[in-house]
Amino acid sequence: MPLTLPHVLVVGDGLAGCLIAWELHFRGCSFAVWSDGSPAASDVAAGMSNPVSFRRILPQWNAREQQDEARARYQLIESHLGTSLWRNVPIVRIFPNQEYADLWAERAAGGHGVSPFIEVMDLANLHKSIKAPCGAGLVPDAGWVNVVALTKKSRSKWQENGCWEQRAWKMDDGCPEGFDAVVDCRGIGAVEDLASFGLELRRNHGEVLRVKPAVEWGERIVNNVTWALPLGDGTYRVGSTHRWDIHEPICLDKTPEALMEGVSDARTHAQELECLEHRAGLRPTCFDRRPILGVVSKAQPHYHACVGWGARGVTIGPTVSRWTIEALLGERKAVPDEVNPKRFPTFTEN
Ligand SMILES: Cc1cc2nc3c(=O)[nH]c(=O)nc-3n(C[C@H](O)[C@H](O)[C@H](O)COP(=O)(O)OP(=O)(O)OC[C@H]3O[C@@H](n4cnc5c(N)ncnc54)[C@H](O)[C@@H]3O)c2cc1C
Repeated sequence: MPLTLPHVLVVGDGLAGCLIAWELHFRGCSFAVWSDGSPAASDVAAGMSNPVSFRRILPQWNAREQQDEARARYQLIESHLGTSLWRNVPIVRIFPNQEYADLWAERAAGGHGVSPFIEVMDLANLHKSIKAPCGAGLVPDAGWVNVVALTKKSRSKWQENGCWEQRAWKMDDGCPEGFDAVVDCRGIGAVEDLASFGLELRRNHGEVLRVKPAVEWGERIVNNVTWALPLGDGTYRVGSTHRWDIHEPICLDKTPEALMEGVSDARTHAQELECLEHRAGLRPTCFDRRPILGVVSKAQPHYHACVGWGARGVTIGPTVSRWTIEALLGERKAVPDEVNPKRFPTFTEN
């Protein structure tokens, strides 16, 4: 630990900038947050925290540790903001075919890394609106974070404390006067600067809807590849899409119909869906789905990256923010190898 705590500039106030600022706040470190107001993935994020990768029925990266830390951290922030942010919301996974159902049942029975996270559902316990001809599984320990409320309320708090400014920053600006370190939380705003170190941050375009079914769909998230997340007011977040060929956060005309069709496939009766909202964002993503954290250049030791949170920012955020700040404060020698820029075969440290 340095004898005097550094004064830190946090650039970006999406989820990454927000959690980094809270990490500094809880440690009594002084900081300022700058954001240029460009579109943020965090304004679109559905906010789900799911410890299971459904494609191959595997646990997510460090699933247990990260989810436990995430829940505790959001609950602590809740107590400071005086608002509810985290909700436990189990996920019902509709099995696409018998082979998948058999593999799920085998793994749910025990002896696999994913076993502690999954159960086979008794079909009598399915909500009456759900259609699951091959059966369904349950992920009881899943959650939802109201990311928009979290980032908005945190921004208001920093504004009240006089430590938030609408202001752009780029690497060429260096460490602005009065600061000892910069933490880069610009999401895809960091693409060009990181490319000059051989670090490719990809833009993963995604869209979500908010819909209102004529008859309610229950209180669990239902996933049949397309998912529907209950927002608690009779409306549901529905998503999402993933495309690598669109580099602007634009809404495509054909997406609402496709997503509504997808989500309706999991329901027993066709019913009218009202689309209330359609939004798009760009997930900042790395080749191996891990973030880029820490120092990237010996010539710029003040610069600490905290970008590339991909599609799982809600769950990994609290842990990777802590790692970033521990490394910045010298509490750990460096961030773990799995999130270190050095893991990129193309990395050119200069
Ligand atoms: C459709 C969709 C659904 C998603 N659903 C989920 C989900 O259910 N669960 C989950 O965990 N994750 C989800 N995500 C992913 C999640 O949104 C991201 O992991 C997370 O929000 C990334 O946060 P970030 O702060 O790194 O980036 P962003 O939220 O993009 O924030 C970047 C910030 O930097 C600012 N900025 C950019 N350039 C500059 C500059 N030059 N100077 C100053 N400020 C700058 C921007 O204004 C913004 O404030 C979803 C994403 C999308 C698009």
